[in-house]
Amino acid sequence: MILPGNTIGVLGGGQLGRMLAQAAKRLGYRMHVYEPAAKCPAGAVADKEVNAPYEDLAALTAFAKECAVVTYEFENVPAAPLQVIEKVTQLLPHWRVLETAQNRSREKRWLREHGIPHAHFAEVAAGGDLAAAIRGVGLPCVVKTADFGYDGKGQLKVMAEAEVAAAVAKFRSQPVVVEQFIPFACEVSAVVARSAGGEVRVFPVAENIHTNHILDFSIVPARVAPAVTAQAEDLARRIAAEIGLVGVMGVEFFVTKSGGVLVNELAPRTHNSGHYTLDACATSQFEQQVRAICGLPLGDTALLSPVVMVNILGDAWAKGEPRWDVLQSDPAVHLHLYGKSEARPGRKMGHFTVQAADAETALAKARELKAKL
Ligand code: AMP
Repeated sequence: MILPGNTIGVLGGGQLGRMLAQAAKRLGYRMHVYEPAAKCPAGAVADKEVNAPYEDLAALTAFAKECAVVTYEFENVPAAPLQVIEKVTQLLPHWRVLETAQNRSREKRWLREHGIPHAHFAEVAAGGDLAAAIRGVGLPCVVKTADFGYDGKGQLKVMAEAEVAAAVAKFRSQPVVVEQFIPFACEVSAVVARSAGGEVRVFPVAENIHTNHILDFSIVPARVAPAVTAQAEDLARRIAAEIGLVGVMGVEFFVTKSGGVLVNELAPRTHNSGHYTLDACATSQFEQQVRAICGLPLGDTALLSPVVMVNILGDAWAKGEPRWDVLQSDPAVHLHLYGKSEARPGRKMGHFTVQAADAETALAKARELKAKL
């Protein structure tokens, strides 16, 4: 067990690192952040901020020497350099988990090899025959770059034969995955935690509404049949055990119109759709991350109240500072801001949660408050 007083390191200094640092410090740990860009959101909360590139092996080694355990909050950290950390201290989740999850080809192949339901797909190497792969998978489909994709970045929906040529031109030089388009009923996700001893706990399944490919609302409990929730939880548990997770992982799913569940994406870190746990669960996903990587018993994941989480994007600053008083004057609403100085459109600046007697009431109120912001 790594006990309070020890130092936890995190690679990546965004909001997930910031909320991890807040949880870790509350529990009595010291927190160090490694992030290429200076003045990051996590650095403002941490005991130490190191600014160096992820490929700087000397800086990574020096950083690791000061930490009892190192984790990451950002999936696009190049996985290979992280092996130097494992020579000095523990890196959790293990770098191979990150390596699998950060590349769509490897991730999908892993799902297929482990018999986990997923959308049918084909892999195409850089310069490969994308048109043939699209015809093989069938239309409509979604073409996604294998590397560095998130929030819908680097993907293109191909609905009709006439759009194939444009997709080929756009992705000619990069490895991609061609995926069957799923006309889903809704999207849900689960944050799962696993300790080194094999204890697994899943937070309540969230229903997610995306706008322009970015998470807009998370609704908990998800408004789906109990059988759907059960499938998602079971799959999250299975994935955590079979991939050898030590830490937390967000698992995103498509719910099909027939009530089936397909895994869309794995993120071996805390997840945006798990932010509701900060206000509405007995333990937050960030405390759970600390517990899992420090070898403490996992915390209780019980939901204390129906809740809706709303992301606040930079767009909310279009007409000046948002109306925080609208949120702050309601005791059932909790605001979280990430301390980012520049509000760019699409940038995640903060979130708020709304608790109510049921999810529908919370959602109606959340939509109203968002509009007033
Ligand atoms: P991703 O970056 O893969 O998580 O995709 C972002 C969003 O695009 C998802 O949350 C879905 O809303 C949508 N999307 C991605 N892949 C598919 C698919 N195969 N079928 C339908 N919608 C998709």
